[in-house]
Amino acid sequence: MERAYYVTTPIYYISGEPHVGHAYTTIVADVLARTARTFRPTFFLTGTDEHGQKVANAAAAAGKTPQQWCDELVPRWKALFAEYEIEYDDFIRTTEARHVEKVQRVFELLREHGDVYLGKYEGWYCVDDETFWLESKLVDGRCPTCGREVQWISEDDWFFRLSAYRDRLLAHFERHPHWVRPRSVYNEMMSILVEGLDDLSISRTNLEWGIPIAGGGVIYVWLDALLNYITAIGWSEDEARFHALWPAQTQLVGKEIARFHTLIWPAILWALGEAAPELVFAHGWITVDGQKMSKSLGNAVDPFALARRFGPGSMRYFLLREAPFGGDFSYSEEKIAQRHNSELANDLGNLLQRTLSMLQRYRDGMVPSTPASSEFAERFAPLPGKVRAQIFELRFREALESVWELVTALNRAVDERKPWVLHKEGRAGELDATLYDLCEGLRWLAVLLHPVMPERMSEMWRQLGSPGSLHEDWTLALVWGKLAPKTRTSPGAPLFPKIELEAQP
Ligand SMILES: [Zn+2]
Repeated sequence: MERAYYVTTPIYYISGEPHVGHAYTTIVADVLARTARTFRPTFFLTGTDEHGQKVANAAAAAGKTPQQWCDELVPRWKALFAEYEIEYDDFIRTTEARHVEKVQRVFELLREHGDVYLGKYEGWYCVDDETFWLESKLVDGRCPTCGREVQWISEDDWFFRLSAYRDRLLAHFERHPHWVRPRSVYNEMMSILVEGLDDLSISRTNLEWGIPIAGGGVIYVWLDALLNYITAIGWSEDEARFHALWPAQTQLVGKEIARFHTLIWPAILWALGEAAPELVFAHGWITVDGQKMSKSLGNAVDPFALARRFGPGSMRYFLLREAPFGGDFSYSEEKIAQRHNSELANDLGNLLQRTLSMLQRYRDGMVPSTPASSEFAERFAPLPGKVRAQIFELRFREALESVWELVTALNRAVDERKPWVLHKEGRAGELDATLYDLCEGLRWLAVLLHPVMPERMSEMWRQLGSPGSLHEDWTLALVWGKLAPKTRTSPGAPLFPKIELEAQP
């Protein structure tokens, strides 16, 4: 099987309703997957993390069994992803048999290979992050990640010999300086490695809501969760399929869980004889007034309401355009409206509308014949390759800035060549060439922006009357002059109607 582009999101811990942060990571994965699908086999996995103390507590508080609780919430996640035009290839739930049986197999293998041993765990546990902490790591006696109270745990648990993998991890980090990005996260993980690693407790004796271990107890929820990336793609079941996908090219995580994905995850994989992922990219947080958005802080924004208000396309565009991927950024409705109105409604939407109405007026709505030469052909020939490279380097903001060079150039062509003057003065050849360039440029934009705004760009494609598919390989689709003369356009409603924000008090 041909090696595929395999991209994953974290599986989402299902202790409450989804917020816009969950949509963010999944949109990024979707943009990568949609771009990859134009030229190679692709697999995009997301899902839900359903075991653990916190889920059990949330379910109990709601008077439900944990399974009922999860069954009722999973459709909310799926609805959120549908709302944001996300097309995953698989959605794994850690309560599914296909996952459970393989996690148990992993545990047996680790036991057979001597990678786990039975010991006593005594220490602190943060239920919110499902994380064990050494006393020395606590901050004022609280969880160093979320600042919540931790609880004392004393039980006989299974331990994974993580410390035995420290040297191999160090060597891997040194040999692959870009496998963890951004650099700040790489450096942070390196300093943990240099300090040293303790063995990891991978079972919970006094918890029932988890994957059972023969002989008692359940698997620690983090080990259970990490394994989804391989259980979903046929590990130990379908070797051909598994090796066509693994190791993953891109694993997206939030920076608060980078430690699990870059220190524990590769060690577990090596213990199973598998390779580490090629890239773990830890992104920053969407903040509201500088605070991480979360349900428990009460500042989480309803992502369904945002999509309805601004449109999923505009939301996707905003999330990728607002800040370099990797860093934190502050969200506000004003900022979303501003980008929607100036960049999408003015720069792009108006360009389409003006072009199609001039075409209607001067050429009966039909694309004129291909000009002998175009200043755009040479200038923008490298653009698709550049944008694609920027997308796969996860530099989405720069990719959109690159695309906007074409938007700007087309708008400038309208202002400078003044088609209405060309028409008035009867300069038919020049008018044809200008209108052709505008239509061809818009066709390019629909292709280049389709991964970011799938539905809106399909509509733009429809208005342009373009035959063929938006999913074609860019190297074939984006050849200047490919747009066929006499293509009949069909103008429609504005792509991005302006949004009025109520005046702030
Ligand atoms: Zn915590």
